[in-house]
Amino acid sequence: MLKRYLLAPGPTPVPPEVLLRMAMPAIHHRAPDFIPIFESAKNRLKWLCQTGNDVLILTASGTGAMTACVNNFLSPGDRVLVVNGGKFGERWTKICGAYAVSVEEVKVPWGRAVKPEDVARALERDPEIKAVFMQAVETSTGVYHDVEAVGGVIKGKKALFAVDAISALAVHDLKTDAWGVDLMVGGSQKGLMLPPGLAFLSVSEKAWEMAKGSKSPRFYFNLKKEREALKKNQTNFTPAVTLIAGLDAALEMIEREGLREVFARHARLAGAMRRAVGAMGLEIFPAESPSNSLTAIKAPEGTDGQEIYKRLREIYGVTAAGGQDQLRGKVFRVAHMGYAGVFDVITAVSAIEMTLKGLGHPLRPGSGVGAAEEAFLEQTAS
Ligand SMILES: *Cc1c(COP(=O)(O)O)cnc(C)c1O
Repeated sequence: MLKRYLLAPGPTPVPPEVLLRMAMPAIHHRAPDFIPIFESAKNRLKWLCQTGNDVLILTASGTGAMTACVNNFLSPGDRVLVVNGGKFGERWTKICGAYAVSVEEVKVPWGRAVKPEDVARALERDPEIKAVFMQAVETSTGVYHDVEAVGGVIKGKKALFAVDAISALAVHDLKTDAWGVDLMVGGSQKGLMLPPGLAFLSVSEKAWEMAKGSKSPRFYFNLKKEREALKKNQTNFTPAVTLIAGLDAALEMIEREGLREVFARHARLAGAMRRAVGAMGLEIFPAESPSNSLTAIKAPEGTDGQEIYKRLREIYGVTAAGGQDQLRGKVFRVAHMGYAGVFDVITAVSAIEMTLKGLGHPLRPGSGVGAAEEAFLEQTAS
């Protein structure tokens, strides 16, 4: 038997409390038993998103909510900005393309964070820009974009600010309302400790106003109808009832831990991981602003990142992730988000050490694990 450890940047491990809740007998989504579950999850989700606005719950993967951000607020021919610093930035551009929305990209070199002044300049050049699309955490590079700073340059402008926070929600402190985020997108299988299948979308009043003029085709993701249904603790179509019950359990856990403490825990885990990477003689991929959700690590000279990823899984049972596109073979990525603690980092670091040693890379076993332990010990002492 090979014991498995899921340390990928989505899906992430699901805690027993959540699994148990989802083991409940099936209930009917139009029957009264569903109402309190939905209502509780709905209210807790608003709290998590730090917003007074409605947060819609969609039965879809995260990309479903991203799609809804485009075809519910914009029309063919509208001009938008996309911050593109990796695979997920690119996804915004592709979705816009599917709905004939015209994209100007703010290109960000992979591994860098967007410069807010570049967004400001693009907005000044074209005041008709209707929306700015960005990631909070660009999962392909492991970079966190400064949502607050970019929100600051959009404030007072016509454009909506849409943030894909799928891999950042319940990890990084994201103040939806205070930072002027009109559309905040979340997904179930990352920081929220759930299986894949739900997407979340908070919508500001400014966005609802813009929605009135949208002429894009839509059927399944009709947010105006979802908003009406939400008021009655319902969804337009059959929702993933089981996942919504699990969502309420996951949010209850987050509530019990405390939002600040959840963010602080992720900062500690990421800090220890980065320390261990340095101590192993390796480098993280981001040149700046590394996220607390996952760490992208450069495959050392003479090794193949895909081989590292494969050996981690096949020999040690650790499912991490490889690099995508231009980073294929160059990096591997390890997550520490959601249901993650000290020994997930220790496990990952130990498996990386053994994998690299096995590949003939010069490395002292225990160097990374020791550094991670020291980081954790310092954190608990302070
Ligand atoms: C995981 C992820 C997504 C969503 O992908 P789905 O497969 O559609 O759930 C989108 N954006 C980012 C930044 C992600 O990490």
